Amino acid sequence: MHAIVILGTGLAGYTLARELRKLDQDRELILITQDDGAFYSKPMLSNALAKDKTAAALVQQSAEQMAETLNAKVVTRTTVDSIDLDARRVISGEKTWKYDQLVFAVGASQITLPIAGDGARDVVSVNTLEDYAVFRKKLSTCNRVAVMGPGLIGCEFANDLANAGIEVDVIGPDNHPLQHLMPEPAGRALQHALGELQVNWHLQDTVSEVCKKEDGYLLRLKSGNSVDADLVLSAAGLRPNTSLAAQAGIETGRGIVTDNALATSSGGVFALGDCAEIDGLVLPYVLPIMHAARTLAQTLSGNAAILKLPAMPVGVKTPAHPIVVSPAAPGSEGEWQCETQEDGGQLALFNSPDGILLGFALTGAIAVKQKMPLQKQLPPVLA
Ligand SMILES: Cc1cc2nc3c(=O)[nH]c(=O)nc-3n(C[C@H](O)[C@H](O)[C@H](O)COP(=O)(O)OP(=O)(O)OC[C@H]3O[C@@H](n4cnc5c(N)ncnc54)[C@H](O)[C@@H]3O)c2cc1C
Repeated sequence: MHAIVILGTGLAGYTLARELRKLDQDRELILITQDDGAFYSKPMLSNALAKDKTAAALVQQSAEQMAETLNAKVVTRTTVDSIDLDARRVISGEKTWKYDQLVFAVGASQITLPIAGDGARDVVSVNTLEDYAVFRKKLSTCNRVAVMGPGLIGCEFANDLANAGIEVDVIGPDNHPLQHLMPEPAGRALQHALGELQVNWHLQDTVSEVCKKEDGYLLRLKSGNSVDADLVLSAAGLRPNTSLAAQAGIETGRGIVTDNALATSSGGVFALGDCAEIDGLVLPYVLPIMHAARTLAQTLSGNAAILKLPAMPVGVKTPAHPIVVSPAAPGSEGEWQCETQEDGGQLALFNSPDGILLGFALTGAIAVKQKMPLQKQLPPVLA
């Protein structure tokens, strides 16, 4: 019998390996990653600055330590460039690895916005520990940062930068912050709270050009306005990494398509984490990954299992105005009902036409306390 090969050593790859080792200590296990294989908590990348954490301080275990703990081979700095499904081989340049079962845990990549100007190539994004190290280095000489993208990650960075004493401009086409997760009154509550921290908002607008200046950058916006910045951070969203799977002939859609057992269209090949589209759902968050890893570990150790997902609210790391969201399933019919709280926060409930709670957005310290009772009323994400 050949090895189980896992592509990727992010939360998905390493959590799967850990769960697998709880069930099977002996099976040959190989993890391959294009980075240095260090284990770190990715959610900390957007709140590490105000805590003055360096990239090195965020490393919980090195690749060598992980290999020992997991009784696995961890192959680092190696980009897998093709898969031979018939021969069950993973290929990187001249090197190959045989597998019996293969798992894609290759994550997602930052979407690059089409921006003109001689400074466009200097725009940074933070989706890996190595990105964070670059970001920290550049920030050491910055007083003003422009963040492109008023979504979850953009708002978390805006809050973290503002807490670290940096002036922030957030720019994006949306009508209000976190537009894809919350109704307008909830977004406005966050906008107001971050505004009090010297975050400047440029909503319903986009950056068309980033030009170098002697001391930083000039951002020209579609509206005709402009913004000065020492650094430009893009938080325009992530796209699942599907090209390796697609090239091999595995079905892909928004992500690498799997059924509710995490199985792809090719026998013995599975996917989980930010790269996967599980039963039609792309769920790029920690909790779905933990559930998926436990389920897939059972299957890989010989006990075929089906993924079930309860409602999994996500905490948004904006301490200026704490938020918990639990979005309704995509395409759900219903409408938002919002109630303003004493502290200016919003208790926003998304109900179906027949009054069933399908999702919520809780903003501010008072509303956030309702998370547990409301979570219990929500339908499961995957039954
Ligand atoms: C700034 C930030 C803050 C976040 N905060 C939260 C939060 O508060 N709560 C929450 O629930 N979620 C949060 N998330 C989301 C969560 O962190 C991710 O869903 C999760 O970490 C993704 O893990 P992953 O293993 O799927 O992908 P990744 O961590 O991206 O790992 C992908 C792995 O694949 C490897 N790889 C890719 N291509 C290849 C190749 N061709 N060959 C070899 N190796 C390859 C990479 O090197 C890497 O090891 C946040 C995300 C970000 C970016």
